[in-house]
Amino acid sequence: MSNQAQTAAEPTIWLNREVPKVKRTTVPTLTAVETEPSTECGNCHSLTTNTVLTLNHYVCPECDHHMTMTARQRLQWFFDSVEQELGQEFRAGNPLKFVDSKPYPDRMAEAQSKTGESEGLVVMAGKLKNLDVIACAFDFRFMGGSMGSVVGDRFVQAAEKALAERKPLVCFAASGGARMQEGLLSLMQMARTSAVIERLRLAGVPYVVILTNPVYGGVTASLAMLGDVHIAEPRAMIGFAGKRVIEQTVREVLDEPFQRAEFLLEKGTVDMVVHRHDLIDTTHRILAKLSKKAA
Ligand SMILES: [Zn+2]
Repeated sequence: MSNQAQTAAEPTIWLNREVPKVKRTTVPTLTAVETEPSTECGNCHSLTTNTVLTLNHYVCPECDHHMTMTARQRLQWFFDSVEQELGQEFRAGNPLKFVDSKPYPDRMAEAQSKTGESEGLVVMAGKLKNLDVIACAFDFRFMGGSMGSVVGDRFVQAAEKALAERKPLVCFAASGGARMQEGLLSLMQMARTSAVIERLRLAGVPYVVILTNPVYGGVTASLAMLGDVHIAEPRAMIGFAGKRVIEQTVREVLDEPFQRAEFLLEKGTVDMVVHRHDLIDTTHRILAKLSKKAA
């Protein structure tokens, strides 16, 4: 006789009654990116928590994409200690009464409330390891890091301080070029900044440019290409006119890596391409060497 037949013959008593199953509700485990403020990588679209991103110097841990840093993040990251912020007294006027889709003062107010900055260039003096350094950084979020007269004023003031105190000057460039709302006054900043850099050169005060993504137009045509040494971040786009404009002019398709930092290194426009993790040490080493030579 089979077992099945035996089971079927058994009377139904409380002992062999089926016990109701306990319902288990599974609580999903949330990953860090679901519980903490996170940022999406513009290249691989992976999410990274802001804490991890800060510790990794705003470099995507998945694909090594160097994300944009704000001017203030950049300088606070760069300096061991900040002693002073310069140039906050300069404020833009509206000499041309410029209006495009909206008046220039409205655009300025919008940029200021979006970024929390009064202008597109932030200047700080501080310590980089054992060196006294003056550094400025463009904020690309502020009207595309465009160079208006206040950006010029701040840069010239920083350079003059560097000159007077014989401290090296560092510039983190990130800009779309001149600020069209200021017309000729904006273009004049190219001459002003170039002139003060020449004074630095004559006095033997080091000036190092770090080209971050992107640097274009009037900034490339002046202060960003006049350094003693040009360091670029990996894959940064650097040029004068944009790729599309050149393609339309020369009627040729310009593929990758045209205008990328690595391409410019190959062509001799930049001196080195340095990963952000090594940027502070490399810049310090260069400044220390140049300062020693200048002394
Ligand atoms: Zn990525």
